Amino acid sequence: MSYSVNEQGFYGEFGGAFIPEMLHANIEHLSKNYLKIIREAEFREQFDALLKDFVGRPTPLYHAKRLSQRYNTKIYLKREDLNHTGAHKINNTIGQILLARKLGKKRIIAETGAGQHGVATATVCALMGVQCIVYMGKTDIARQAPNVARMRMLGAEVRPALSGSQTLKDATNEAIRDWINNPSDTHYIIGSVVGPHPYPDMVARFQSVISEEMRWQLQEHEGREYPDIIIACVGGGSNAAGAFYHYLEDDRVCLIAVEAAGLGIDSGASAATSLLGTKGIIHGSKTLLMQTEDGQIVEPYSISAGLDYPGIGPQHAHLIQSGRAQVLHATDQEALDAALELARIEGIIPALETAHALAVLDKLEFKEDEIVVINLSGRGDKDLAAYIEYLENPSGRHKSDH
Ligand SMILES: *Cc1c(COP(=O)(O)O)cnc(C)c1O
Repeated sequence: MSYSVNEQGFYGEFGGAFIPEMLHANIEHLSKNYLKIIREAEFREQFDALLKDFVGRPTPLYHAKRLSQRYNTKIYLKREDLNHTGAHKINNTIGQILLARKLGKKRIIAETGAGQHGVATATVCALMGVQCIVYMGKTDIARQAPNVARMRMLGAEVRPALSGSQTLKDATNEAIRDWINNPSDTHYIIGSVVGPHPYPDMVARFQSVISEEMRWQLQEHEGREYPDIIIACVGGGSNAAGAFYHYLEDDRVCLIAVEAAGLGIDSGASAATSLLGTKGIIHGSKTLLMQTEDGQIVEPYSISAGLDYPGIGPQHAHLIQSGRAQVLHATDQEALDAALELARIEGIIPALETAHALAVLDKLEFKEDEIVVINLSGRGDKDLAAYIEYLENPSGRHKSDH
């Protein structure tokens, strides 16, 4: 079985490009050119140079000794939290801004929920001197003020999405509307392995630098290129896609995706998309999504704003459905506990999203000589408010910020 995208843009039965007629020319143009462009030597050189000198790659593969002791196995942390702007998202925005320039696009639009992708996009637009417009739900603008301030400081225009629940899916709808109205000069930088083909494949390729580095770093540390287990959290799925990329066809490696269970899988307030979701189309792609029987999107919930997406990337839907990847879940409370544990025993404060990946260590059985890599997708500075609330009241998490 193949786990990569096919000629038609599908992963098994998932994926494709289900888009309004008005966007066909744009998507077609991107589909026809993206592989050719990103394989060119000049593009590779520019991409690699910026990842090295601007982003700070390679990120370390750190042997977490005290965490390993605690779980009686050998745990490495892939330190994406050390990237410029604090997470893996910049790998993708660097790739897409270079691609946009090759395609002759002069204007960039993006959607953002928590603001992390918005900041990563505003950053590369500043770097390249390109106009940047970020759509963000009005509700999210209010609750993510520091990231809004960052985007503005970086010169981006933050436009509020006023429809629906005024959150991520509404921001995405606004961005798509903008693209329909500005097809020729604008490139839409999508922030995860979601959306119509070729976005899921393109974003996965830009993020694949994570597992590319893991291979030689494991060779250096362990004398072999592969781990036994890779664990990554999944919102749309881009950090997981990057961490899995070079091991998809390698059966020796167990792939574990972790979704947010929010207040509990059965609570009605979660983002356990692959478990609770059914097949449908969201943002141009066929995948698993949380919806009512008549196809209305169910608002997802997680304490981490980066995981509360109602869908999942089509590749992940395929990996999970085919059994290649295993999916586990972590609640808000479990994620908070895991974040505190990492801070206390390794001196690393992870992002709340990342904390979900750490939280499943408690749910797995390891052998002592197994090699486990956790993709540490981002750092926790942005989540200090939630952590402070938790430290003041460690077991009394309520859905207060929902
Ligand atoms: C955005 C984000 C995620 C979730 O997005 P994916 O596309 O699933 O990787 C995870 N971790 C961090 C730190 C993020 O900022």
